[in-house]
Amino acid sequence: MPIPIHDPHQAPGTLKRLPLRKAAVLFIVAVSLCLCGLLYLQLEQSRRQDLAVAKMASGNLTRAMAQQAEDTVRAADLVMTSLVDWIQDDGYGAAQRPRLQRIFARRAQQLDQLHGIFLFDREGQWVITSFADLPRGNGVADREYFRFHQQNASTVAHIGPAIRSRENGEWIIPISRRVNDQLGNFQGVLMAGIRMSYFDQFFKSFSLDDSGIMFLALTDGTLLARRPFDESLINTSVAHGEIYQTLLPNANAGTAMLNSVVDGVTRLYGYRQLASYPLVVSAATSQDTILQGWYDRAFQSSVIVALVILGIGLFGWVFIHQVRDGERIEKNLRKAQLALEQIATHDSLTGLANRRLFERSLDIEFARGARQVSPVSLIMLDIDFFKRYNDAYGHVAGDQCLAQVAQVVKACCQRKSDLAVRYGGEEFAVLLPDTDINGALAIAGQIRRSVIDKHIIHSGSPTGYLTVSLGCYAFIPHGNDSPQVFIQRADAALYQAKNAGRNRAAVFTAEEGFAELMRSDR
Ligand code: GH3
Ligand code: MG
Ligand code: MG
Repeated sequence: MPIPIHDPHQAPGTLKRLPLRKAAVLFIVAVSLCLCGLLYLQLEQSRRQDLAVAKMASGNLTRAMAQQAEDTVRAADLVMTSLVDWIQDDGYGAAQRPRLQRIFARRAQQLDQLHGIFLFDREGQWVITSFADLPRGNGVADREYFRFHQQNASTVAHIGPAIRSRENGEWIIPISRRVNDQLGNFQGVLMAGIRMSYFDQFFKSFSLDDSGIMFLALTDGTLLARRPFDESLINTSVAHGEIYQTLLPNANAGTAMLNSVVDGVTRLYGYRQLASYPLVVSAATSQDTILQGWYDRAFQSSVIVALVILGIGLFGWVFIHQVRDGERIEKNLRKAQLALEQIATHDSLTGLANRRLFERSLDIEFARGARQVSPVSLIMLDIDFFKRYNDAYGHVAGDQCLAQVAQVVKACCQRKSDLAVRYGGEEFAVLLPDTDINGALAIAGQIRRSVIDKHIIHSGSPTGYLTVSLGCYAFIPHGNDSPQVFIQRADAALYQAKNAGRNRAAVFTAEEGFAELMRSDR
């Protein structure tokens, strides 16, 4: 174990410790944040992927719906086109009616989607239908499609709002054409009714979630068919919805995540306007259904990450506690080491440095003095008539007296580099680096006076109180000077102080040798 030596010039060598606890906390926090970040990125990516797949599916579904709607309407339209041509060429007089009725009936039978085919005259009265019996009643002059053709010379097909058949009450979507005579005058209307149930069945053939929606509407927003079927919504307008307001004006087809103003449900809407007919189809799947799998995955991943973070946190907690315990043990060890160093280098009675520390310090100060060409001084101190003190007051009082003198010696060492030593028994030494003989003598005088000022009663001393004698020596060390000689010379000065009558400080000067000792009674 390295024992620190008295070296006041050297900065205490402290190794900068890694703040292990802080580092551990930072590491755990960083790992947890990374895991959360990764989880977020992964979930965000898989959410985007799920939405992209749903968008593609929605696009495909609306394309299929549009195709089916177009095929359904076109088939009926083609039938009507050829019938209108016949009627315009041959008229629909009594002679033609039986044959036309048979053709109407056959065409209506051939196309599943057709509820029936109807021919109305200029007044809107039934002339021929695909049914065997002509319906009785007021005719269709009030119907929207009839009025449309009556007022518009256009011969293209017209798709009207849904109506209830006056034949059997079934919901039908009317596709109609104007019938002209040879001169282009209005002669009536040919109408093919497409069963709404035909679209319903087609819509139902797709698997859709409970809150999913499919609908067919006119380009003006009039709702023609819808899944789930709700009679009260037929022919209502969806034109105020976002599809009609913002999406269709920009693109004929697309997908968008919209918040339903009706039920507040967020859905992915796919929409498409037909190229050939004024129809719009749309299908919507709720966001919750689209993301159901993602929700499950997100939950599982979050639980796993939470468990991992919990594990790391627990491990970190244990680790940090162990580090803390380790630090506490290390602190105690350091304290114990310091205490041992104190014991090994200091005197227990007086608290001053012992001879071991003194000798080491001497070596260091000699080397420094030699390097810096600066003087080193030593004061040797001996209590006068101390044997008698012991005899008079006992050893315990003697020890207390020694402690008091040590206190005085220590108090007089004002520089950090000064070292007060219990040299042995009732002898003390003071090592004064970077101090010449005058400085040493000044401190020796100060110690001597301070001891007197303590006024420790000593009946065995001629003065009646405790005094000390001191010997001083100073020199500039050279590389090969022996500390022993240094001590001997200070000791010789002390001896001279004793011989000269005690209670004084004496100086040994190297030039004049042992014989010429200066006495000082300062
Ligand atoms: P002087 O120095 O003036 O010539 O006379 P002295 O009586 O002091 O002579 P010396 O220095 O030789 O005395 C040493 C005495 O110091 C011997 C012993 O009784 C006492 N002494 C030495 N160490 C201790 C100690 O640790 N405790 C006590 N109580 N007394 C000690
Ligand atoms: Mg002595
Ligand atoms: Mg003595």
